[in-house]
Amino acid sequence: MNRIIAIVNRKGGVGKTTTAVNLAATAAAAGKKTLLVDFDPQGNATTAFGISKGNGLPSVYDVMTGLGTVRDATRQIIGANQLGVIPSTADLSGAEIELVNTRNREFRLREKLKQIEQEYDWIFIDCPPSLGLLTVNALAAAHGALIPLQCEYYAMEGLSQVLKTIEIIKKNINKSLEVEGILLTMHEYYNPRNLEIEREIRSHLGTLTYQVMIPRDPILNTAPGFGRPGVWYHPWSPGALAYQNLTLEMLHKELKS
Ligand code: ATP
Ligand code: MG
Repeated sequence: MNRIIAIVNRKGGVGKTTTAVNLAATAAAAGKKTLLVDFDPQGNATTAFGISKGNGLPSVYDVMTGLGTVRDATRQIIGANQLGVIPSTADLSGAEIELVNTRNREFRLREKLKQIEQEYDWIFIDCPPSLGLLTVNALAAAHGALIPLQCEYYAMEGLSQVLKTIEIIKKNINKSLEVEGILLTMHEYYNPRNLEIEREIRSHLGTLTYQVMIPRDPILNTAPGFGRPGVWYHPWSPGALAYQNLTLEMLHKELKS
């Protein structure tokens, strides 16, 4: 059965895109037919795969506004025949405004993905740092919400807002939405504050939180500059290994369900 996973957090810079691109790359290498939808006008997942923006080719903006189909906009990633990416450009922020007065505006992405979802095992959606209409579209289309979380001071506060939004979406527009998992990112084993927050999150939300944590690793930060996810750029770095382990944890969970 296929699974659509939205990678979401209202907070910026917590590792959503890094998680989206490294998971997509690892899932494809593990034999999963994978699609990554860059759903952020910043287009960071697009550039992380070395796809140039603004070359006139169809993007997720065209998909959302009906100018192109999902198939038109999907780029096959060279060297990873199981992986497609739908790129994004700054135009997408215009789509958010254009959609405001349209009917079924929350379901636009869901309708579009319906056309192709059977062709993929896993579809990841990299969301922008807000809980606006784009993220609502992603959550309306998804089976699961993966929440990257940095172990810092206001993490719990931000997390409860995201969990509340997921509950509201589940109640009103997408009954099959679940929390896929909470992922602790940029974790520093030597930082007592990090460890304290990790303990707090695991004691409250242990069953929802992945065992695997992503350590702070400069490789993950450097790789996008070379148009490659960290797991391809330096597969044996601690951050890349952690994303490979996360994929294994997700595969294991899928086998058990
Ligand atoms: P935004 O909300 O702006 O879309 P985001 O939540 O998608 O941000 P990322 O872009 O993935 O976050 O990460 C923010 C910054 O932190 C980037 O420069 C990224 O390279 C870096 N980064 C992410 N994860 C790690 C990590 N585990 N170790 C070191 N640097 C990281
Ligand atoms: Mg991002």
